[in-house]
Amino acid sequence: MAFLELANLKKSFGNTQVVHDFNMQIEKGEFISFLGPSGCGKTTVLRMIAGFETPSAGRIAIGGKEQNSLKPNKRNIGMVFQAYALFPNMTVHDNVAFGLKVAGAQPTEIDQRVKEMLALIKLDHLADRYPYQLSGGQQQRVALARALAVRPQVLLLDEPLSALDAKIRVSLREEIRAIQQTLGITTVFVTHDQEEALSISDRIVVMNAGRADQIGTPFEIYNTPATRFVASFVGTLNMIEAKVVDPAANRIQIGDQGVTLKQSVAAFKAGDTVSLALRPEAGSLTEGTPSDTKLTGQVVSAHFLGSVIRTRMNVGGNVISFDMFNSPGVTPPAAGETVTLRFMAADLLVIRD
Ligand code: ATP
Repeated sequence: MAFLELANLKKSFGNTQVVHDFNMQIEKGEFISFLGPSGCGKTTVLRMIAGFETPSAGRIAIGGKEQNSLKPNKRNIGMVFQAYALFPNMTVHDNVAFGLKVAGAQPTEIDQRVKEMLALIKLDHLADRYPYQLSGGQQQRVALARALAVRPQVLLLDEPLSALDAKIRVSLREEIRAIQQTLGITTVFVTHDQEEALSISDRIVVMNAGRADQIGTPFEIYNTPATRFVASFVGTLNMIEAKVVDPAANRIQIGDQGVTLKQSVAAFKAGDTVSLALRPEAGSLTEGTPSDTKLTGQVVSAHFLGSVIRTRMNVGGNVISFDMFNSPGVTPPAAGETVTLRFMAADLLVIRD
């Protein structure tokens, strides 16, 4: 049995249904990200787990125990929000101690636990400061320590990094992941940032309009997106429109060039249009790179991005982007030049709408 179970969760506000039949089984100690654009229902699912919203239907259980009828303070859940939400009139020490005091812990136990938590977030030297004397990143670490001090069963993080600048965001996400692994705490992290989700999660749920479009490891989500939405939201993927030529032989045509796919198109009829995805890093112009498939087209543009040259080519009306790795001797092709892109047919993925 999974540790955190979300079964057939639904939520409507008035006549508008914002969460549709959401199902998820989360194992103890897993780090799960809910990834999706603004308004797709990530926060609403998180708030239902915390008990701040009542599901319109469905079941939430932690460790086999149904939570639906429990108030938020009886669920033993720690939560960190986007806005740090520290108590401004309390020191760092007292902020972290707050939940323990409310729970009636003894002063010596409180002091011991606060020390442990501040050591964990490496802010032991700032225990007597007030929130206004801390940077945004430090405040968010205190919020994390406060949430963890009561030893919750589940940690919920609602876009905890989005108010911070880019450099701090990267270092703090790594710190959060390290702390989560040290404690082995089951964690659900809400974000609209795909790189963030890919870099720190055990599994990602890609949410689209109140539904889970795909649930998988970062590798699965990035390398084998199941839907057009996942493909376009996670990574810069090329979407290619192709015609099915021979469904039984997996033969398709891109413009006037024939390709044999590794994936089956047996569910299509000859003449149907099929959508394909190809990651920019899957293709290369260099002869001799491992490849079993070629497409010839005209260069539209080539932009130098530092480590790579992002090049766009036109193949029968499809603009396909691919990356050339920058190294001595590599020159970007000129616009209008005819080039041949080489890749493995297995990298051309059939995508459903
Ligand atoms: P964001 O990243 O912008 O926070 P989200 O994916 O977390 O987005 P939610 O906050 O869960 O999305 O909102 C999902 C939908 O539900 C949105 O259309 C939102 O307007 C609506 N919604 C959320 N809370 C309420 C509420 N209390 N009353 C009515 N509608 C709501």
